[in-house]
Amino acid sequence: MKSTMKSSDMLESSSTQPVATSAVSTQDRLKLEISSSPVFSEKNSDFTDVSSDILSKFIFYDFDTLSIKPFGVSSLRKIMRGIFNKSLKFFVEALSECLPPDISAYDLTPADFWALMYWERFNSYKKRTQVPVEFICKSSKHLNLVADGIADDKSYRQRIYISSGSKIKIDFIDADAVIAKVQAIADEYGIYLNAPRMRDSLEIESLIEEVPEEEKADFIWLATVASCISPVYGKTLQERMTKIEEDNLHPDLLMEIIDFSRMTNSYGISESVEAACEVCGTSTKVDFVLDAFNFFPDNNG
Ligand SMILES: [Zn+2]
Repeated sequence: MKSTMKSSDMLESSSTQPVATSAVSTQDRLKLEISSSPVFSEKNSDFTDVSSDILSKFIFYDFDTLSIKPFGVSSLRKIMRGIFNKSLKFFVEALSECLPPDISAYDLTPADFWALMYWERFNSYKKRTQVPVEFICKSSKHLNLVADGIADDKSYRQRIYISSGSKIKIDFIDADAVIAKVQAIADEYGIYLNAPRMRDSLEIESLIEEVPEEEKADFIWLATVASCISPVYGKTLQERMTKIEEDNLHPDLLMEIIDFSRMTNSYGISESVEAACEVCGTSTKVDFVLDAFNFFPDNNG
């Protein structure tokens, strides 16, 4: 994949990349060299055009249509491998197999990635769609049962399987607000932001294992900041983390970047369900988001 930011996005202090001189609008910076090829699904009948479902509205990508096909055996093997190894990487590889060859799931924003995984859930499995959801019952009735010794205190934590009745909430990105924020930060600080991608999430997943326990919180903080600055400052997240430390970015700028990070996390798909506690019967509204380990139909339901 090409970088989605032009080389003019670079800091002046960087000397490793060519500097373009032409002035570009933020919109242009966020949508570099958009492919004008026809929608992939038009010539590939196993694919479906999902362009209008892309929650980031393509503002961070160098393509503006996207097609997808349901999981095949090869993808399902990778999903199983991901579950067994507790590794998100295999989920990303599984989805990549279902996208056109020039588009990688590594380059998707997490919100778009999970929205497409939703698509896979509904389109790969027609029959069994039970999904495990965990919640903690907080009813006073349940508290009393535990206080009276009728229920165990471990019983607050419940695991239910839902097959229908959940409500899915879909939020698209506020593209104008995000573009305005990127422009404002570029104008004030001369640094270009971009949305975190799945490849950043995966790099955090692999790096965090080596980080000592007491450094994990500040590592995540720095990684979050680094995942929001343009890849022109470093192809890998680690390179961008190093750059932020070396350039000793201003605290106000760091705050702005964290704010941008919140904006890029405020869209996506979330789901909620009314769940009845198996111990006390109290109904609780449970909000949950998809992740690698509750996503797929569970045979134990
Ligand atoms: Zn309960």
